[in-house]
Parts: sequence; structure tokens; C-alpha cells
Amino acid sequence: MKKSLDIVKPAVRGLRAYSLSPHRAQVKLNQNENAWDMPLALRQEILHRFEQMRWSRYPDFIPASLHENLAEFSGVRSDQIIAGNGSNELIQAVMMVTIGPRKHVLMCEPTFALYRQVATVLGGNVESISLSNSLQYNSALLFSVVEERQPDVTVICSPNNPSGCVIDDQDLVKLLRIARGLVVIDEAYHEFAQHTIVPLLEQHENLVVLRTFSKAMALAALRVGYLMAQADLVREIRKAVLPYNLNSFSQMAAECAVDRYETDLRPLVKRIINERQRLFDDLSAIKGLTPVPSKGNFMVVKTELDPKVVFEELLLRDVLIRDVSGYPMLKKYFRVSVGRPEENDELLAGLREICGE
Ligand code: PMP
Repeated sequence: MKKSLDIVKPAVRGLRAYSLSPHRAQVKLNQNENAWDMPLALRQEILHRFEQMRWSRYPDFIPASLHENLAEFSGVRSDQIIAGNGSNELIQAVMMVTIGPRKHVLMCEPTFALYRQVATVLGGNVESISLSNSLQYNSALLFSVVEERQPDVTVICSPNNPSGCVIDDQDLVKLLRIARGLVVIDEAYHEFAQHTIVPLLEQHENLVVLRTFSKAMALAALRVGYLMAQADLVREIRKAVLPYNLNSFSQMAAECAVDRYETDLRPLVKRIINERQRLFDDLSAIKGLTPVPSKGNFMVVKTELDPKVVFEELLLRDVLIRDVSGYPMLKKYFRVSVGRPEENDELLAGLREICGE
């Protein structure tokens, strides 16, 4: 055994690396991306601005113009915002300033696996409560565990990935009152739920909200996310963010996306929401499949077949989905992103064949 590995924290040695299967397919429904790419006119404007930028210069130390843009867009002040290299970076930042040995993170699983990963790497204890049998937030259990254990950080994704459930506003307010620690609400998919809890920031100094440009904003390749909280807390979290974390190109592209959200991007979100309903109805009609209603641009589907077989069989038909059967509670499930209509048709045709229809 190499000695150097002994230096690595045992909790890290015990982790399986967060990874994604390297498969590729024509119909890509495995990462909850925006099924439509950024509209051409917007891409061209971004590229035009890119050409005029000074590439030899560092980005802004703090991307102030993007912060201002986001503040107006989200209804908070610019000193309440940190933009980052994907919301992943900000998940890490908020945990870095709060979590270490003897600190506790509470999450409701199954959920986005990175939270457990980062908390564990930082030496924190992760406590987890299960979603209900119908894969919804179990508020009564959440209240009692938070009250009793008072975790340093409670994480709730709303909509949750992969179950698609959301936390009720009143339940969240109650939770924020009970919790002495931080409550992180990950709103990566809020556009598809047509709902946000950002207005609660004004009243609740223990609330942190995370958002991303990787889903509705169709910019996953450029890695932009942002965090919102009250200004005092933001100032502390910023200490864990590296200088120049956001490159100039991504910053500028994100500003353009915000400027043109209403005209260019919101219509795509509406189409995805419509397709989500259509996909749900058509999946429900396939024998042996039970989709779970979702507020995101994805859903999990219960299958009587082995989900791994469904994954492999769809891949043979050039359709890539997410195998989530290793997640807690999801042994019999797979996850699909909502694609464009023709992509969803291919998925449905494949599934009908696989299910023997
Ligand atoms: N939060 C949730 C709930 C997610 O599902 C994801 C990505 N799948 C992220 C955050 C990470 O997003 P980003 O691309 O902004 O790092």
C-alpha cells in the first residue's frame, strides 16, 4: 500500500468518487440540461462581444456588473449575491465556511449527490432522512429532526433532483424558524416549477439560495451559478471563493442570458413544461412504467424491469438516460430529462419496445 494514501482523510478514502458514465448518444436525456440550445441570435451576440473583449486581462475581481444584473433579475441587492463557476462551486464555498469535523449536515435523500460528497470531504457528519414513499418531502420528520439535532447546515433542493418534489413555502418558513443553523435551498430547477422562495431572504438571515445557468438558462457548458443570502453572510461565504473564479466569457454570456431571458429563454422553459406533462402522460400509458410527477425538467420512472436493462436497451437505440438505481429508495427507478418533442418520441418508442408493447 502506498504511504501517501495514508495521509488522505479516512472519510475521503471511504468515498466513491462523484462521476458520470461516459456514454454518448444522439438523444441525450441524462443530465437535466435545456433540451434546446441557446437561441442563435443570442449566441451570435455573445460571440460578437467575445471578439471585442481583451483576452490578456484578468476578469473582474468581483463580477460586479453580473451581480447587479442578477440582483435586478432576482429581486435582491447586489451585495447579496456571489456568482460562481457553476452552482457546484458555491455548494462547496458555503460548506467550506460552515462544515468541518464535529459539524453536521442534514439532507433529505435521494438528492443531488454532490452535497454528501463535499460535506464528507470537509470532515463533516452527514445525516440523512428519507423522502416519503411517494418521494415527497416529509415535513413532519424534517421539523422534528432539525429541532432535535440542530444541524449546522440543512440542504433542500426544491425542485429536488432526482425526485422532482418541492418544499411547501409554509413548511420552509417553519423550518427556517426552527433551525438555528443555515438552510440551503437549491433552486437549480426553479424556472420549471415557476416558483421561487427568494422573497423569504429578507426575513430570514439563515437562508441561502443557490441557482444555476446550467438548466433553464441553457448555459451548462459555460459553468455559471449564483448564491443569494443576506449581505453579512454573503461576505463570509465569499472568503472561500477563489479570486477570478468566473472567467470573463462566462460572465458576459450570463449577463446576455439574463438580459434576454424573457424574450429568448422563457419561451423554451414553457415548451419544456408542456413536454413534461406530455411525457408524463405517455409514460403512464406504458405497461410496467409509473412516472413520478415532477416540477423539474426531468422525472424518475418506476419500472417493473431492471432499470439497468432499461438503460442498456435504450442506449442500443441511441437514447441516453440516467441510471439512478444506486440512489437510496430508487432501486427500481430510472431518470429521464424532458427533451425536445422528437427526442421524447424516440425515448417513448424505445420504452414501448423494451416493455413489450
Ligand atoms: N444543484 C442541483 C440540484 C443539480 O441537480 C445540479 C446539477 N445537476 C447542480 C446543483 C449543479 O449545477 P451547476 O451546473 O450549476 O454546477
